[in-house]
Amino acid sequence: MAGSSSVLLCRHLGSDAARTSLEDDLARRLSNSGHTVLITPHLYHLPHGSDAWREIAALPGDLAVLGWISPRAMECLLREYADVQPTLAVDLSAPDDHSAAVEAAPGPADGPGAVRELDLPVSARWYPVLDRSRCTACRHCLQFCLFGVYEAQEQRVVAVRPDSCKDGCPACARVCPHGAIIFPLSDEPAIAGTPGTLMQPDAAARRMYYVRTGRRCPVCGRTAEAGEQPTPGQAACEECGAAADRPDEAPSAVHEEIDALISALDDLTSGGESE
Ligand code: SF4
Ligand code: SF4
Repeated sequence: MAGSSSVLLCRHLGSDAARTSLEDDLARRLSNSGHTVLITPHLYHLPHGSDAWREIAALPGDLAVLGWISPRAMECLLREYADVQPTLAVDLSAPDDHSAAVEAAPGPADGPGAVRELDLPVSARWYPVLDRSRCTACRHCLQFCLFGVYEAQEQRVVAVRPDSCKDGCPACARVCPHGAIIFPLSDEPAIAGTPGTLMQPDAAARRMYYVRTGRRCPVCGRTAEAGEQPTPGQAACEECGAAADRPDEAPSAVHEEIDALISALDDLTSGGESE
């Protein structure tokens, strides 16, 4: 962990004695080797208005973060809520990464270290974490979610009401065309942001998106109808799943005009941002 001067150590949520022991051991060893260590509750469950994020943002020097979710999820959370880019992120629940976490500890003591723990009450949460390096602000998640979790703000889409997200629902992660939505506690590695995985848009979810929003598929030009399935052997649009040789609708000029008008109105209401 050369060059890193602060360590953020995020505890697990719960009372797993082995995890607590590992956290305590790491904190002790890191401070013994001269690091400033801030211990917080589980990073994902920290309330977004909490002072903890300001304390994290104020940590001196380069930052390493150790916690119990994927490194990508921790990096995205820190960028989103503390405006900090960590130089190292280690998932303590990944056995292969324990060595990296332990390697973060040793090193010649070049000054007194310090450990401080923020003892905040937290409870379990479930909400989407956006990966800004992938998000194009296309707004598909915002248009898809029925629970008002997202809003467009300037040139960004933001999870403004994260706790309105339905527990265990990762639907918008399947809809996002760019794999930009992470649910760090998901059992599905790609949705949890596990290294080496990336959520690919799910055809069934993309189809739900077109059904729910009434938007015309840009690939086949059709509107998807709820419940419609291609018959066995019938070709389907790879984007929206509509039967490829459905007789209905080459998009009419009138439909295209209406679509263009709706897009223009969307742009107006969002301050000129285009989908
Ligand atoms: S659907 Fe994905 S890329 Fe589009 S705004 Fe939402 S998070 Fe960003
Ligand atoms: S997971 Fe479901 S409820 Fe949560 S933000 Fe996405 S679509 Fe909305």
